[in-house]
Amino acid sequence: MRPWNFSAGPSALPLEVLRTAAAEMTDWHGSGMSVMEMSHRGKQFIQIRAEAEADLRELLGVPDDFAVLFMQGGGIGENAILPMNLISLRGATKADYVLSGSWSNKSYKEGARYGDVAIAASSGEAGVVAGVSQEPWTWFPAPAQWKVRADASYVHLCSNETIGGIEFTGWPDLSALGAPDVVLTVDASSHILSRPMDFSRVGLVFAGAQKNAGPAGVTMVFVRRELMGHALSCCPSAFDYATVAGADSMFNTPPTYAIYVAGLVFKWLKKQGGVAAMEKANIAKAEALYAYLDSTEFYTNHVHPNVRSRMNVPFFLHDEALNAPFLKQAEEAGLLQLKGHRSLGGMRASIYNALPLEGVNALISFMKNFERLHG
Ligand SMILES: *Cc1c(COP(=O)(O)O)cnc(C)c1O
Repeated sequence: MRPWNFSAGPSALPLEVLRTAAAEMTDWHGSGMSVMEMSHRGKQFIQIRAEAEADLRELLGVPDDFAVLFMQGGGIGENAILPMNLISLRGATKADYVLSGSWSNKSYKEGARYGDVAIAASSGEAGVVAGVSQEPWTWFPAPAQWKVRADASYVHLCSNETIGGIEFTGWPDLSALGAPDVVLTVDASSHILSRPMDFSRVGLVFAGAQKNAGPAGVTMVFVRRELMGHALSCCPSAFDYATVAGADSMFNTPPTYAIYVAGLVFKWLKKQGGVAAMEKANIAKAEALYAYLDSTEFYTNHVHPNVRSRMNVPFFLHDEALNAPFLKQAEEAGLLQLKGHRSLGGMRASIYNALPLEGVNALISFMKNFERLHG
């Protein structure tokens, strides 16, 4: 059996997908070519891309008035590509950001290079949420408290903070915040396809594939068509959403192999019962792990229970001196890549779609056993 892989990204892919890619490596469907060797303009790859887009649309119920783009540059690239395309949407080059951890802070800093950006809300200080006091960056600012400028082009948030382990999905109606014309934009890199998404509330969602949808190299962008066509003159043509959409994501050579493997993941997801079935499985996995963390003093997770991520579970051992033996023994037990992000320390278990409940249960038994030996 392969070990269980808890990497935050690039992360585990379904074994079935890897096996299909391996079987098709040298000859895709009798074409005599590997997907890597095909022209992106040939009929085979055109079919691969079109099926990937159709399956992705079906899985997430993406409305027709959204374009689906397969781009390069990753989430960090989108932190610049998004403002270059949207910040002048409403004339003034203004945008607001909700700060809830590392990734939203990165987006905000990059956005500042393209115009007047402001912080709509931030969890960067201690707060009290539903009667529970919280350390900075372990909670999510409630939409009722956001200060969105009515003439901003967009307000941006990260809906799953991969490092802090904070997930937020209650996307607000911005007219209720006095900003009816402001567009909500979302970085969903680390939980896309793990649960249904409400596209009626957003203008743009982007997500790098390497967390939950495929290998590194392709970024999915879902953008409301009416928002395209306003790019700043400094925006490279290859990153102008209107240009990319107009060419079916083939303005320049797309990351063909990454799109192909992501397409295999989409077919696998459909076979599993789609995003609704994934959500059910993800709830069961996250509940099992958090319930165990809450049952012991040996391990802790600091995130407010209302916004604990179903995908990324950071946790700490009560004695840091045990971190090294924990990681070493975990690896020996077939539990890989549990080391926390260098900015937080401790551990992090990323339990994306491709990691089944069986893998989470194996982690919990290992943790119980480790606690018994060292507690
Ligand atoms: C991983 C990640 C990114 C960064 O993606 P790159 O492909 O490294 O540019 C951005 N946002 C979130 C939420 C992520 O988890």
